[in-house]
Amino acid sequence: MEKLFKRIPRVGGESEKERLEGSSEGTIEPQHKAQAESVEKTPEISPEKAKKHEGHTPKFSWSIKPQGDQKAKPARSGKDEIPDGLWIKCAHCKELIYSKEFENNKKVCPKCGFHFRLGAYERVNVILDESSFEEINANLVTGDPLNFTTSTETYQVKSDQTRAKTGLNEAIVTGFGTLEGMPLALAVCDFNYLGGSMGSVYGEKLVRLVEQALERRVPLLAVSASGGARMHEGMFSLMQMAKTTAAFACLGEAGLPFISLLVDPCTGGVIASYASVADVILAEPGALLGFAGPRVIEQVTKQKLPPGFQTSEFFLEHGMVDQVVNRKELRPVIAKLLRLYETVVAQNEAREREVSYAG
Ligand SMILES: [Zn+2]
Repeated sequence: MEKLFKRIPRVGGESEKERLEGSSEGTIEPQHKAQAESVEKTPEISPEKAKKHEGHTPKFSWSIKPQGDQKAKPARSGKDEIPDGLWIKCAHCKELIYSKEFENNKKVCPKCGFHFRLGAYERVNVILDESSFEEINANLVTGDPLNFTTSTETYQVKSDQTRAKTGLNEAIVTGFGTLEGMPLALAVCDFNYLGGSMGSVYGEKLVRLVEQALERRVPLLAVSASGGARMHEGMFSLMQMAKTTAAFACLGEAGLPFISLLVDPCTGGVIASYASVADVILAEPGALLGFAGPRVIEQVTKQKLPPGFQTSEFFLEHGMVDQVVNRKELRPVIAKLLRLYETVVAQNEAREREVSYAG
């Protein structure tokens, strides 16, 4: 097992608490700092528009980085954004959005409702109660079991570069927190880290979370944004499909709820394994969902795909998703599910007490 993963200190050495506190105050996380610095200068904004908002000086400046692995969906990669820190151009409706308003709206376009991608820690902040998140296994990093090398670089080098670039140690962040005061185990993918791909450490972190959720008797929410299994780890990454699904089966046997939230994009070995075996499957509007991408399917089947194919809405219509939930409704919807579970647990306990008195 040693070859598969190892522990190293967290990148940058900052604690999870500092990271969360930082982001709640609107400062930039390391990966976003890099993003903000990497983008070009802004085209000019009309004087009227600038004047209208001159009283509002944002404390920070950031923008979403063009993400290398998102060529198939440039709309969400932020290529159309105006990186001056004040205005962002929606890649979908092309309207200008005041960046503070965009941030307050949880990175959903207030004009057209387009959902931009979130990083793992941004997602944690959107879902959990403030400062309630305690990360586990944060320092687990991948090894290179196959000594995998492409024509240009080794997997080890690629991993080191990705860790430095994203400030993450893996494509998944796991831990425990509360939602409206109710305990919740949470796993969140980050698509910025090698396309959110599932390797040995991803699978191991997820399984360890399930095991702890079982010990603590806590429901689990997994937020999946992934390109699928990590090809750099070959069979080891494919094995994670079975390993994670088996772990979630144990959660089911123990009567603990598993909620899966599919966000853009969720494809390949992740949607083909644990992400689609949940008790309740939710999805964000307009997310790309499916096993293979639409281009691959069209090439193989030589048929034109119907409009809206492989979106959350299409999945909902065809019974693969239970509810499409707007980002601002996520907390209330998940809280409702957790309360439902707590009510059932309380009823069962009351019934058991009655039986034991009667006995
Ligand atoms: Zn828009």
